[in-house]
Amino acid sequence: MPDIIGGSLAGATAALALLKLGQPVTIYEKSKFPRHKVCGEFLDAAAVDLLSDIQLEGTPITETALIWPNAQTRFALPRPALGISRYRLDHILLMQALREGAIVHEQVGKPHDKAIIAHGRKPISQKGERLFGYKAHFAGPTNNAVELYFNGIGYTGVNPVENGLTNVCGIAKEEDLKDVQFDGDKFIARQPHLAKRLEGRTRQMEWLFTGPLFYGPTENTRGYPCGDALSFVDPFTGSGQLCAIATGQLAARSIAKGLTPTQHIEACRQLLQPAFRWSTLIRKSLSWPLVPYLAQLIPGQLLYRYSRPTLSPLQTRR
Ligand SMILES: Cc1cc2nc3c(=O)[nH]c(=O)nc-3n(C[C@H](O)[C@H](O)[C@H](O)COP(=O)(O)OP(=O)(O)OC[C@H]3O[C@@H](n4cnc5c(N)ncnc54)[C@H](O)[C@@H]3O)c2cc1C
Repeated sequence: MPDIIGGSLAGATAALALLKLGQPVTIYEKSKFPRHKVCGEFLDAAAVDLLSDIQLEGTPITETALIWPNAQTRFALPRPALGISRYRLDHILLMQALREGAIVHEQVGKPHDKAIIAHGRKPISQKGERLFGYKAHFAGPTNNAVELYFNGIGYTGVNPVENGLTNVCGIAKEEDLKDVQFDGDKFIARQPHLAKRLEGRTRQMEWLFTGPLFYGPTENTRGYPCGDALSFVDPFTGSGQLCAIATGQLAARSIAKGLTPTQHIEACRQLLQPAFRWSTLIRKSLSWPLVPYLAQLIPGQLLYRYSRPTLSPLQTRR
């Protein structure tokens, strides 16, 4: 019976895929669900497709806005995404795996060579500038857009989730957050265009922080890694959850087919690498001074398409 280390998006979807193939699983999840998690909570349309067996209720997101202090561009998404909190989504998936027969141990699991490794990002020692993520939910008027407010190297995403809530989540340099003693309200107040957007909304939870964040493939993984345990994609693309769900399902198929961990990692690499290359390039370019103006000339749907993995080969193998 395969062990799965981590029962969040990648782990729970790997479990559901194995159970569907008739293989029993044991999940180790160290946190008690439901729980909040730092995430933009923008679930790409392709991820919604991969979870089509499960009923998910959130808010459709139909539009994207890229907003700089002095310029902005808006475009319709090719297909609606879903705004749904991790509090709700992760709990639904883990409960579904439990109902379908997974054994769930609410405890730390030890990674090993035959396990599916879905434990998310692991801290690494990093020199130089460090980035941290932050997030809180707000009550008040909502819309159907994901709006990204850029501020130098950092940015904040604002989008609806369920129950009339708006998620405010972003990435900032550690020193900028230290400057405000990691006080999210003060941090927002320093960005007038974002502060104006949140006028009339009331924060519903304590600010959560996570980090340091390190983008790219994880080194020295064991077993069958998936999700952030395999590789962490820059969150601005809103495709980390899609990658976690897709590679969770891929890990299940790799085990069912008897692939070696190396063969599994190669299959994941083929799926993810093009998206990682483009997302890194696009992300870096967003802080160049002329980009706010140039971005208005580039079709937004092109940026969108090139910043995420192509899933057609995977989908046809479901
Ligand atoms: C600031 C920020 C914004 C983001 N915004 C978006 C967005 O809008 N859209 C999007 O698609 N993606 C976004 N992402 C990325 C997305 O959150 C991740 O890609 C996704 O959470 C990865 O899922 P996962 O299951 O691989 O890992 P995680 O969600 O990190 O889950 C890992 C799980 O493993 C458990 N665990 C860890 N170690 C052990 C252990 N030893 N034993 C047992 N359990 C263990 C943890 O408790 C956790 O529940 C964002 C990320 C950040 C940081």
